[in-house]
Amino acid sequence: MKQRLKVNDYVEGIRQGNRVVLAKALTLIESDLAADRVTAGKVLSRLKPVVKDIIRIGITGAPGVGKSSFIESFGNFLTQRNKKIAVLTVDPTSQLSKGSILGDKTRMEQLSKNSQAFIRPSPSGGALGGTTLRTRESILLCEAAGYDVILVETVGVGQSEVAVKGMVDFFLLLILAGAGDALQGIKRGIMEMADALVITKDDGDNKKKSRDAQAEYQHALQLFRTDESGWKPPVLTCSALEHTGMEEIWEMILTYKEKTSKNKFWQVNRKKQAVNWFHDYISQGLMAEIYRSPRLGKLIKKLEKEVISKKQLPALAGEKLLASFKKMLSSK
Ligand code: GDP
Repeated sequence: MKQRLKVNDYVEGIRQGNRVVLAKALTLIESDLAADRVTAGKVLSRLKPVVKDIIRIGITGAPGVGKSSFIESFGNFLTQRNKKIAVLTVDPTSQLSKGSILGDKTRMEQLSKNSQAFIRPSPSGGALGGTTLRTRESILLCEAAGYDVILVETVGVGQSEVAVKGMVDFFLLLILAGAGDALQGIKRGIMEMADALVITKDDGDNKKKSRDAQAEYQHALQLFRTDESGWKPPVLTCSALEHTGMEEIWEMILTYKEKTSKNKFWQVNRKKQAVNWFHDYISQGLMAEIYRSPRLGKLIKKLEKEVISKKQLPALAGEKLLASFKKMLSSK
């Protein structure tokens, strides 16, 4: 087992904004060991709710669209505005390939040297559900450590976007001009979740293509979505290479915050997210409880085989398992 700190050392270190302690606390949060979960719970409960204004921004887009370049440029822009920023990642590919699309290469080199920025590579392993619960806890730690803007990056494969959308205030979809939605793997559902679209690489020969795409997407977006936020998602452009468009994007996010704070959507959304988090925690916890039990684990294996060989309908196999679980609970 890796070296752990005492609860108090984590709490004090985080309060003081100590980056080394913050990194250690995030490792603790990501751990599946039962003892670590207990310590993590104690640390989380000892951190006071942060009163200052924090903005959580989700960022997604297909591989190669320019996410890390964007975060580097946008992040540096924000730190010049005296914002402390933390970058977290939800990367479902790390569970599939063991390596990860987002984590392997050296990303955001400049930003990682910026003392006002904290970058956390994606935790690997575990199911997406578990990872997203941990990411939510990580957001809280970063906020308690004094970060003002939390950027949560994810790679566009569907499920992870839904998860990230559920933990941020503003959700940004990056797209490439002229590459076609299907080619970029952008599903309509993801487009509908976005609070803004940003066309990347608006520089050099791409400029005309970017303008065309901007008009096209703006038109497409009008066709769907006006939800209770009262916000109409705009389409902006930027170049991480030339560092253009960053100010407009930030101003837009601030406008969103102002408008939705006034009509209370911002606050209601956060409350809903907190309730959903609570429910996610319950379902994840129940699942973990079931899969951790040796007796039920054996039964699951057995029932799985029966489902494969068609001896048992999946739903009935599920019923059997739950019946055993209930019995186990009542005999405790
Ligand atoms: P990610 O996979 O979405 O994180 O994308 P990266 O940020 O790694 O960028 C993918 C490629 O696009 C890299 O070769 C970058 O150099 C290039 N790129 C990123 N941003 C820009 C930009 O603003 N302009 C241009 N011309 N190229 C860019």
